[in-house]
Amino acid sequence: MDAPRPVPQSDAVIRPFWEACARHSLCFQQCAACGHRWLPASVVCPRCWAAGAEWRQARGEGSVFSFAVYHRAYHPAFEPLLPYIVAVIELAEGPRLVSNIVGSAPGEVRVGAPVRLEFLDIGDAALPVFRLAPQGA
Ligand SMILES: [Zn+2]
Repeated sequence: MDAPRPVPQSDAVIRPFWEACARHSLCFQQCAACGHRWLPASVVCPRCWAAGAEWRQARGEGSVFSFAVYHRAYHPAFEPLLPYIVAVIELAEGPRLVSNIVGSAPGEVRVGAPVRLEFLDIGDAALPVFRLAPQGA
């Protein structure tokens, strides 16, 4: 029997992010004082330390900033996925997040490659994952 895939742990700071993901919407925070945009969520702006961040919706486009190919599963739920790709995605709006690239063999992924957002539903939660954008798109 396959192990169930772990779902995200939430707290008051990150809860709006995961609630948006459950609605298949990817959100990031933007500083009301300086305009800086970031992920993961925090109570103050990582650039100017102002409180009062606002949530903004990402349009779901970005590029591969960095990636690694996992050949070993550190949780039994990931064994059937081996080898799988963990990537830092830079959203078109600027924030970066750690995610997975789905639908591609590891040799197809390159730093800088354009990607598009998808959601992977797991029970009541949804994880933002990315797929390589078609060539020339
Ligand atoms: Zn700021």
